Amino acid sequence: MMKIPPGNLASSECLFCKIVAGDIPANRVYEDEFCIGFPDINPQAPTHLLIVPKHHITSIAKAEAGHAALLGSLMSAAAEIARGEKLSKGYRIVVNTGDDGGQTVNHLHLHLLGGRHMNWPPG
Ligand code: 5GP
Ligand code: ZN
Repeated sequence: MMKIPPGNLASSECLFCKIVAGDIPANRVYEDEFCIGFPDINPQAPTHLLIVPKHHITSIAKAEAGHAALLGSLMSAAAEIARGEKLSKGYRIVVNTGDDGGQTVNHLHLHLLGGRHMNWPPG
C-alpha cells in the first residue's frame, strides 16, 4: 500500500476528478488502485488514451519526492496499456505542462499516443 502522496483532495471543479469519481462518463479501458485510463475525447492518433491519477495533482510541475511511487505507477500503467493495445511498433507518452506545454486540464495526466508514426520535434 502506497502512502498518500502530497496534493489536494479531489476538486469539485476539476474535469478529471469528475471522471475519476464517475460523475462524467468515460470508457475505462484500464483501472488500478492509483489511476484510470480512458480514450481522449479529441484523439490525435489512432490510439490516444489518457492515464489519469485518482489523486488530484495539478501538473508534473508540482511533483515532489513523495509523488515518486505514484508517478512510477502511471508510467508502468502506460506500458501495460500499450502492450494491451498492441502498440508493438512504438508509441509516445506525453505530459503537457503549463501554458507553454499546452496543458489544458489542470489535473496531471499522461497522453499515450500510437498507431501512427510520430514526428520530431513535436509542434
Ligand atoms: P492537455 O491538453 O491538458 O494535455 O490534455 C487534456 C486532454 O483532455 C485533451 O487532449 C482533451 O481532448 C481531453 N479532454 C478534454 N475534455 C475531455 C472529456 O470530457 N473527456 C475525455 N475523454 N477527454 C477530454
Ligand atoms: Zn483533479
